[in-house]
Amino acid sequence: MASSVHQSVREKARASYLGLAIGDALGATVEFMTANEIQVEYKVHKDIIGGGWLKLKPGRVTDDTEMSLALGAALLKTQSVDVVAIAESFSDWMRSKPVDIGNTVRRGIVYYRNHGETSVPKSTFNSGNGACMRTLPVALATLGCDDETITTASRLQVHITHYSDLSDAGTEHVINLIQLALNGYDINQLKISTQAFVAEYPEFNYDKRRVTNPGAYIVETLQAVFQSLYTTDSFESCLIDVVNRGGDADTTGAIAGMIAGACYGFGDIPERWLKQLDYTTLCLCSAQADDLLSLAPVKIATGIADEEQASDKRFQG
Ligand code: MG
Ligand code: MG
Repeated sequence: MASSVHQSVREKARASYLGLAIGDALGATVEFMTANEIQVEYKVHKDIIGGGWLKLKPGRVTDDTEMSLALGAALLKTQSVDVVAIAESFSDWMRSKPVDIGNTVRRGIVYYRNHGETSVPKSTFNSGNGACMRTLPVALATLGCDDETITTASRLQVHITHYSDLSDAGTEHVINLIQLALNGYDINQLKISTQAFVAEYPEFNYDKRRVTNPGAYIVETLQAVFQSLYTTDSFESCLIDVVNRGGDADTTGAIAGMIAGACYGFGDIPERWLKQLDYTTLCLCSAQADDLLSLAPVKIATGIADEEQASDKRFQG
């Protein structure tokens, strides 16, 4: 691979991770507000100013970015997709008393702690956006993997807290969009991919009326994200469009941010947003983007392989 190509993938990966954090920090101010309330208070909300129901400092991110960093740290620690290491990392994060945590996420982590199970039971009630919002590390580490490996890796991390067909499908499509963008596909080509996805999963059809106040349901979240992605032409316009819809705005911002970041690249991220983003978060996201890309194509750690390794060691020792 030519080094310039390599360089551009790295730059887009970094923009994707910073896009996630910026979308989270920007959207958190207006999370749970309606689009009308946002309009009355801000006209258009377009700066990272903190506040919101969590009373955040400007530039502070929430669970969307923090869980992504926890997932990425587990992948880097084991140099593989190891579901127990990921579940432990989520559990450690919950113990750190995060600024916020979704109900389904909390339930899944408690389920792991109590039962040692790394998958919650399958249920349509698990169709929230909480697994999709933290998917970026998997998208980066599985770049260049075959489809089956990507699906397996995604479902391992997703099912720790969310296990439903729609959450699986939506998350895998977001991974697909990020990877297409990293590989140089433009927004129109991403749109074609989403049209094929919607043909397979008509629930996600986003061509009807404008989605406002999207809730945490993965379908509403992604409909809002698709509408914003495919009606704007820059990182900034996409993020402003999506967070001003209100509802679960930090999460629509985070998901739109990771896709738009990968698509438009670092140079398209407004300077004022980079400056406002919490500096430690900025460094952590940039470093993980680089390191996770270096892991790609990542291996999946299975319990069987671990047992074999353990028995090998016993045999040798
Ligand atoms: Mg959040
Ligand atoms: Mg949220």
